[in-house]
Amino acid sequence: MTYDAEFFRRWMTGTAAAVDREADRLTELDAAIGDADHGANMRRGFAAVAAALEGEPGGTPGAVLTLAGRELISTVGGASGPLYGTLLRRTGKALGDAPEVAPVKLAEALRAGVAAVARLGGAKAGDKTMLDALEPAVAALAESLGQALPAAAEAARQGALGTVPMVARKGRASYLGERSAGHQDPGATSAALLIGALAGAEEAR
Ligand code: ADP
Ligand code: MG
Repeated sequence: MTYDAEFFRRWMTGTAAAVDREADRLTELDAAIGDADHGANMRRGFAAVAAALEGEPGGTPGAVLTLAGRELISTVGGASGPLYGTLLRRTGKALGDAPEVAPVKLAEALRAGVAAVARLGGAKAGDKTMLDALEPAVAALAESLGQALPAAAEAARQGALGTVPMVARKGRASYLGERSAGHQDPGATSAALLIGALAGAEEAR
C-alpha cells in the first residue's frame, strides 16, 4: 500500500473543509487566550491551498505539500501561517519527487516536518502549542503500523485536549501566563483537524 498525489490532495482539501466547518470554534478558542483570528487565519490559508491545488493538477506527493506550504506562508499573517507552512513544505521536501510513498516514508517525512516547526517556533511539548497535537501524532504513526493514520488522528485529538491545563510558554497565549490554563490551545485544535483529515484521506479511497 502506498500514498499517491491524489491522497495528498484529499488531505489538503479535507483539511480546508474541516477548518472551514470549525472556524468559529477555532476563533472562540483564540479569543480566550489570543487575538481571536485563528479560525479566520486557517480558513483563509487552506482555502488558498485548495484553490492553488485546483490550478495545478497532477504533481507528486512532495510537490502537493510544498505548494500547500508556500500558500500558507504567503496568505496567513499570524504565527500559524509560517508554522503550518513550514510543516507542509518540510514534509513535502522530505517526500522527494517519488510518485507514490510508503507509510513508513510518510511517517518519517512528517517527523521531519514537525521537527522543523519546533525549530522555527522554539517550542517543545508541554508549551501549549500545535506541537502538543503534532508530536503525539508523529509518535503514534511510528508505533502503529496498519491502523496508523486513525491512531495518529486520535493521538492528535487527545494531545489537543491535553493542552487545557497547560500554561502557555510560546506564542500570544504566553502573555497571559497562568491565566492561559483552563483553555484548549487553538493551534493544537487545528493541528488535530489537520491530522484528522490525513486519516480521512485514507478512508476516502
Ligand atoms: P497569532 O498567534 O499570530 O494570532 P494564530 O492565532 O493563527 O496566530 O495561531 C495561534 C496558534 O499558533 C497557537 O494556538 C499555537 O498553537 C501556535 N503557536 C504560536 N506560537 C507558536 C510557536 N512558537 N511554536 C509553535 N506553535 C505556536
Ligand atoms: Mg491569533
